Amino acid sequence: MINEFNLQRVVFHGCQLGLVSVRNGQPIKKPWAFETTIPEIVSAFEPLKCKGDHVHQTCEGPDTNISGFYTWQMTDQMHKCFQERIHNLSVGNVDIAAVELIPLIDVVPANSIR
Ligand SMILES: [Zn+2]
Repeated sequence: MINEFNLQRVVFHGCQLGLVSVRNGQPIKKPWAFETTIPEIVSAFEPLKCKGDHVHQTCEGPDTNISGFYTWQMTDQMHKCFQERIHNLSVGNVDIAAVELIPLIDVVPANSIR
């Protein structure tokens, strides 16, 4: 499917997005991955690989269940990516939008006053 839809795979770690143990609050280094066609998601999540500069809790017992859910940091980051994608797409069409908007602004006030 990756080749068929030209998907890019980005791997990152839960400890970089607030995944912590319910037992002791220590970060859990769970590898997660997205496969996407959205370059903004790849750019945002690619740097979120653990650098190994902190202690991890092993993902076991009650932590196994919670690690199956997204963290708020992950979903907030994903929403920022969608916003950025929409912005970037609209910027790409700015010439078309400007050509259509400018005549409407000039014409409407002149006709309605007279
Ligand atoms: Zn880590």
